[in-house]
Amino acid sequence: MSIKNRINVYFAGSKAATNVLFGLLMFALIIIVNSCKFNPKEWQEHHKIVATTGMIGDALENILPENYSVHTLMGQGVDPHQYEAKPNDIDELARAETIVYNGLHLEGKMVGLFVKLKREKKVLAISDGLIENRLITTNGIQHDPHIWLDPFLWAYGIEALGQKLAHEYPEDKEEIIINTLNYTRKIRELGEWMRAEINQIPIRQRVLITSHDAFHYFGKSFGVKVDALQGISTVSEPGIRTVSSLMTMIIDKNIPAVFIESSVAKKSIQALKEACARKGYALKEGGMLFSDAMGDKKQHAETYIKMLRRNTETLVKGLTNNKENE
Ligand SMILES: [Zn+2]
Repeated sequence: MSIKNRINVYFAGSKAATNVLFGLLMFALIIIVNSCKFNPKEWQEHHKIVATTGMIGDALENILPENYSVHTLMGQGVDPHQYEAKPNDIDELARAETIVYNGLHLEGKMVGLFVKLKREKKVLAISDGLIENRLITTNGIQHDPHIWLDPFLWAYGIEALGQKLAHEYPEDKEEIIINTLNYTRKIRELGEWMRAEINQIPIRQRVLITSHDAFHYFGKSFGVKVDALQGISTVSEPGIRTVSSLMTMIIDKNIPAVFIESSVAKKSIQALKEACARKGYALKEGGMLFSDAMGDKKQHAETYIKMLRRNTETLVKGLTNNKENE
């Protein structure tokens, strides 16, 4: 082999080795970049906000800018009246900058914890933004906590929350206020649509009977009489007298259906159906209503707006068809 050829072979080999080395370096770089999960959002300051219920978490997702992360403690089908903070929740609450809860004793078993946390961080209750005369008093002392089931009242509470958050985070004030106005406008539009839908139900049959007393604000706003087997909280069990008096009313008014709730046990409604059946009255199960928790995508109830829309459709369908008992 001539010297020229030897030089060529040497350089060709060296070039191949350089290519392999370059490839390995690029591979290592890709792995490093991927393992760091580079995300431009992480360069911005992240504010950590914790919400108790899904309805509150959804509102916060809608009104807060992108550099805020919202964590919701109670998932779908969870009963907030009975909910106790788990060790993981305590960690989330400890890390949170701001905590938003419903108030009016909805989160009955977490009240003590919120009082403690108030000493060191921002803890806001939606109910604090509502005027007292818009609240329903149930047993002469306590206010009914189910404020989200009336979209007009909820929009009012979310507006007040938006104002508080805008005050707490002045650097994002403008965006929070604009987002709040847009979101509450959508909620009020939903309310108008619900009113038009509910007006299709014959007036006499506008009676909503369900497992626990969650729908008083809803009933007041839309002209629907509301009755339930359990009280405002799900802690109490229905008595025999409640079952028998509800049965009498159902048969008198020819009410076609009763409804079950996603977060409450079904057995109390079953007792009522059986009592009606013994009197020869076929009481239907009108379907499932989302009262104290949102649902999932399959149920078309994964957001607050979808949840109320779904409830309205279920209610109108259940209370407008009744051929069996006529
Ligand atoms: Zn409830």
